[in-house]
Amino acid sequence: MRNIAVIGCGYVGLVTGTCFAELGNAVSCIDTDAGKIRGLRAGKMPFYEPGLLELVLRNQHSGRLRFETSVADGVADAEFVFIAVGTPMAQNGEADLRFVRQAAMELARCVPPGAVVVNKSTVPVETGDLVASILREHGPDGMQLSVVSNPEFLREGCAISDFMSPDRIVLGISDARALEKMKELYAPLNAPLVITDVRTAEMIKYTANAFLAMKISFINEIANLCERVDADVKDVVAGAGADRRIGTAFLNPGLGFGGSCFPKDVSALTHIAEKYGVPSRILPAVLLANKYQIERTLDKVDSALGGVSGKLVGLLGLAFKPNTDDIRESPALALAQLLCERGALIAAHDPEAMENARTTLPPSVKLVEDAYEAANDADAMIVATDWNEYKQLDFSIVRKIMRGNTVVDARNIYDPRTVSKHGLNYIGVGRSARLPAPSLDAAIVDV
Ligand code: NAD
Repeated sequence: MRNIAVIGCGYVGLVTGTCFAELGNAVSCIDTDAGKIRGLRAGKMPFYEPGLLELVLRNQHSGRLRFETSVADGVADAEFVFIAVGTPMAQNGEADLRFVRQAAMELARCVPPGAVVVNKSTVPVETGDLVASILREHGPDGMQLSVVSNPEFLREGCAISDFMSPDRIVLGISDARALEKMKELYAPLNAPLVITDVRTAEMIKYTANAFLAMKISFINEIANLCERVDADVKDVVAGAGADRRIGTAFLNPGLGFGGSCFPKDVSALTHIAEKYGVPSRILPAVLLANKYQIERTLDKVDSALGGVSGKLVGLLGLAFKPNTDDIRESPALALAQLLCERGALIAAHDPEAMENARTTLPPSVKLVEDAYEAANDADAMIVATDWNEYKQLDFSIVRKIMRGNTVVDARNIYDPRTVSKHGLNYIGVGRSARLPAPSLDAAIVDV
């Protein structure tokens, strides 16, 4: 059993702290948001993440997991202090390190001797040096200091299994003592370790996210071209992805990427490249292509309806992806905003994100109880987030209750044949207008 403190109870901090407690450690999770800590102490989750509530309650009950508002209370006796605060996008697109600096300053005043300070937040190159210099300057004289970079790769929606069974654990470390301690801490996960220096570890995280975002923008462009040349992108992905050098993961065209990571991390890496005098040509294009995808979807609805002004659109999905209530940078919300600006009326549904979305959406957007209510009387229906519960809609009912017949499958979750046979006008992303015989379908591994 190790004593661990985690600063920041967001998606990463809370999952990390809870999972370490589940592995038998004593963990204190700290957050400046007193309301969040009050809620967590009372067993109320600040966000939706499948399976997390049960894990929090179990570990709280066993006394291995506690919640604090004060860094000093939380880190007393800690052998490891994880910094997992937010690193949002600043006005100019850089990573805003305000919370990291603040956490490091608070930590400097109370860091226990010999504790390993671990940076889990996604941060630009040299932030490990920044944290170390804050601790050195404001901490006790002659303190033994180890600052480790241990970026997190969990995905919202499957964060617990991602933490417990990671593809790899990246450890950016400059001293042998901290390395041995970190190896021991992560030993129960039995995962491959990538051990490197701190700056390389910081680069690894941005490289991974930027590459995944690039794959999405790339396949969206290919899908758009498929529409023009009457090819089917699903089959293109199956054929190209069968090459082991390519694979099919993250080659699922749609409405573009969103969330709290890809947009800000691509933007931050663009700025890092600029700052170091190696400007990127690819990264700005990734963001541009992503923005265009939303406009393109809007144009598809617009032209199918002969203008969206005054038309009722049923919008399925508001979260940036399924299995989360996170709406940060959600393309679904951006699409809703644009539709409203063009005068559309919207009835929107999301299984988890409606409460979060309510204050962000234009007030004219009506939030409804389920997909069928969203489709009711609608001139068009759009699937903006690929929640499982939208995958098996009864299209005979949908056809009856809709006023119009346009179904825009912006996440390619339906078989065009299934939708079209009910007299609906199916519009997917990069799907061929010619519907192939079922026997000719290429096998697709969905990701
Ligand atoms: P978040 O915004 O959900 O949570 C951050 C939390 O830190 C908030 O609750 C905030 O109140 C708290 N905080 C801020 N300053 C603090 C301080 N000085 N002391 C204590 N608490 C403080 O952020 P998140 O989504 O958990 O992301 C955290 C970091 O991890 C970011 O750098 C992000 O890029 C990275 N990351 C996120 C994900 C993800 O899926 N969300 C995945 C991998 C990495």
